[in-house]
Amino acid sequence: MASSIGGARPRLAGKLFTILAVMLLTSFAGAASAAIRTGGAPTPAGGPPPPGSPGGAADENPSAGALTVVSAKTFPRKSFYYGVRYPRLSYTIASTQAQNDLRIDVVDSTGRAVRTFYRNDVAPNVASTVRWDGTAANGRPARNGKYSFRISAQTGAPAARHAARSSALSLGFALYGFAFPVLGPHDFGQTGARFGAGRSGHTHQGHDVMANCGLPIVAARGGRVRYSGYQGAAGNYVVIDGKGTGYDTAYMHLLRPSLLRAGDLVRTGQPIGLVGSTGSSTACHLHFEIWTAPGWYEGGSPIDPLPQLLRWDRYS
Ligand SMILES: [Zn+2]
Repeated sequence: MASSIGGARPRLAGKLFTILAVMLLTSFAGAASAAIRTGGAPTPAGGPPPPGSPGGAADENPSAGALTVVSAKTFPRKSFYYGVRYPRLSYTIASTQAQNDLRIDVVDSTGRAVRTFYRNDVAPNVASTVRWDGTAANGRPARNGKYSFRISAQTGAPAARHAARSSALSLGFALYGFAFPVLGPHDFGQTGARFGAGRSGHTHQGHDVMANCGLPIVAARGGRVRYSGYQGAAGNYVVIDGKGTGYDTAYMHLLRPSLLRAGDLVRTGQPIGLVGSTGSSTACHLHFEIWTAPGWYEGGSPIDPLPQLLRWDRYS
């Protein structure tokens, strides 16, 4: 796609937009059902994720009985940072005491706690929930990987697993920073699809993900929409300032104008449009760009997105 997009960012005429918006509402239902199958409920108007559970503070004189986890369920088993659903633990403990000072740790695959939630005076046999927003103790997004919730007493003793129900206890999940932007069959094209490939008058600033028109496109990383509009070369396009990354991601040639508007907040994995071939394009595909800080035509530079796309494709 073009390097000439920087100047004009024309807006659609209001009348035309109204017609297309009605058409898009119909298509969004299809995108929505696909998104739900892959774990994301769409929020077409955009919106920030709800806050995660508060961390709480440790009791000054912690006390707990002998603890047993009698039920534990983690949902969903795969989540994205700033995504549609946060990892959530629902749990119930049994104890030899009426009041128990607990800590719920999010532990990585090496057993290291990356985030801790303190819960004081917890009664046995009462269901509780912790929802993790994917940030580590320093407030930064946690790394990609497998995690688990760990329930223990603030005195240090881990909660035992209820022997008879052990196989039903679910505490593990995966968290990823980015989602693959096309939901459905795709490939990475020929050499002309690559970043840096020759185009008339410029070089290719993104990677072309080949996929059928009409497949949902989702935000690789949620954040704030910088631009959503139409441009002669890009066709219908959306640019998102990725939350906590410094990177912008750009999506071009969308089948129809996105419902999103500049300033909207979107979540990782949220549908933002459909694969199309609008603008300067000869086949159905998503032209995808990644720009370094401070962003897309804001002083940043485009980088080759293919290594990232290949990585995201392995788990999305
Ligand atoms: Zn392209």
